[in-house]
Amino acid sequence: MAANKVLTIRHILLVVFTLLAIATATSHISNTAHFDTGLLTGLIGLIATANLIAYALTRTHIFISNSLFGLLLGLTLNHYLAISLTDYQSPFFWSGEHHLSLLVHLTMGLALLSCELWLRTTLSSPRSSVAIRLAAAVLAISLIAGIALAEQTLLWQSASVFVIYTLFNVVFGLSLWRQGTRVGLSYCLGWGLILVTWLLLILVSLEQLKLAPTVLVLGCALSLGWLALSFIIDRIQKHQAAMLLTISDLELALEACQQQTEQFVQQEDETEQLEYKVQERTLELEIALRELSEKNQELEEKNTLDALTEIRNRSYFDKKYLAELRRSRREQTQLSIVMLDIDHFKQVNDNYGHLVGDECIKTVADMITQALKRPSDEVCRYGGEEFAIILPNTDLKGAITLVENIRATIADAQIDVESSQVSFTVSAGIATTIASLTDEDEALLSLADKQLYKAKETGRNKVLGSELTRPTE
Ligand code: GH3
Ligand code: MG
Ligand code: MG
Repeated sequence: MAANKVLTIRHILLVVFTLLAIATATSHISNTAHFDTGLLTGLIGLIATANLIAYALTRTHIFISNSLFGLLLGLTLNHYLAISLTDYQSPFFWSGEHHLSLLVHLTMGLALLSCELWLRTTLSSPRSSVAIRLAAAVLAISLIAGIALAEQTLLWQSASVFVIYTLFNVVFGLSLWRQGTRVGLSYCLGWGLILVTWLLLILVSLEQLKLAPTVLVLGCALSLGWLALSFIIDRIQKHQAAMLLTISDLELALEACQQQTEQFVQQEDETEQLEYKVQERTLELEIALRELSEKNQELEEKNTLDALTEIRNRSYFDKKYLAELRRSRREQTQLSIVMLDIDHFKQVNDNYGHLVGDECIKTVADMITQALKRPSDEVCRYGGEEFAIILPNTDLKGAITLVENIRATIADAQIDVESSQVSFTVSAGIATTIASLTDEDEALLSLADKQLYKAKETGRNKVLGSELTRPTE
């Protein structure tokens, strides 16, 4: 808000100065012309135009104030030339000390404004800023006080203001230069040149010095041009520096952006690689798990197998027996259990040795396996030379037929073992039932065992079977 206000006041000041400058310039144009005047007038015009062009290009307000400042300083110098040199004829000269006072005050006011604007954009120097404001205040009081002054005094007042403020600008330029601002020296030299030219002019007008008027005009023109040019060059350099700074900022931003993009791409690559590795590991783990479960199954399978005969073992039978009992109970189907034992096997062992005995046990297991046709039928080695057969969905009649067939086959067989021919018989007991909740789990098995015992008791090489009877039946 404060900055906006300052800007508005500055704009108003600029407009007022412009109007004043145009009004004073146009109202006193005369129709006489001279080379020196032309030179100075042209230079003033050039400075004003160059500054305006610079403003149009850079939109920096300081150029407007510089333009007006050049115009007013030119007019002031022109005025002094006209007063001091008798043969200097200017179309922009108008007599009267009030005009001169106004011009001097306006010029110095604009010089101060330019300095202030220039300070704001260049370096922060609060002390210089305060000095400029004080000088501006004194200038304003001097301008107002001038209205009341007599003409001769006014001339002296204007001259004093001119000298004091020119010196002020010399010092200001010098202090800027000492603070490391290059344009400060140009500024100081420009104002110094103006001061020297002005003093020469005064000396010539007081007839203390003899100098060709053109030299003085050139001095004025040179100092004016120098000052204006140093301002323009400084602004343009600053503009370029700002542009370069912006470009370098943009380059830095671009570089940062590129780096970020590279990082992002790298991160994406890494994430992709990580995901790929995770997938790979997961697959490996799945394969390992599958292999492990297969191995487990194999192991479980092995645990249920009998090492000698490679048919199911006793522990498998125990589980399977209970499972089939439950199924029979659930589905109300007949279940037959067979207990089969080799007759007088002790003798086989005694006669042929244990190895032959083992072979015989294996052969019986194979024979029983081959005799079983249904996938649900299962033979297990119950222990020693004793086998248990589970026949789901099989009634007593069917079971007897099947087991009788097995018995007859074994009885007829001559088993070749290690150059000896061995023959033997088997006895079997069968128990059949549709399982009931009231039954003891062991009842069916025990009945089959009893039937086997009976078969042994009654001569062996035979099959006996019975259905399970219950006390209520
Ligand atoms: P029976 O059953 O007719 O009453 O007579 P058995 O001679 O077969 O009777 P028992 O049950 O008393 O004897 C079984 C014999 O079977 C005892 C043991 O020497 C033999 N036997 C048990 N397991 C094996 C085995 O794995 N290999 C061999 N070679 N013999 C075994
Ligand atoms: Mg036996
Ligand atoms: Mg036995």
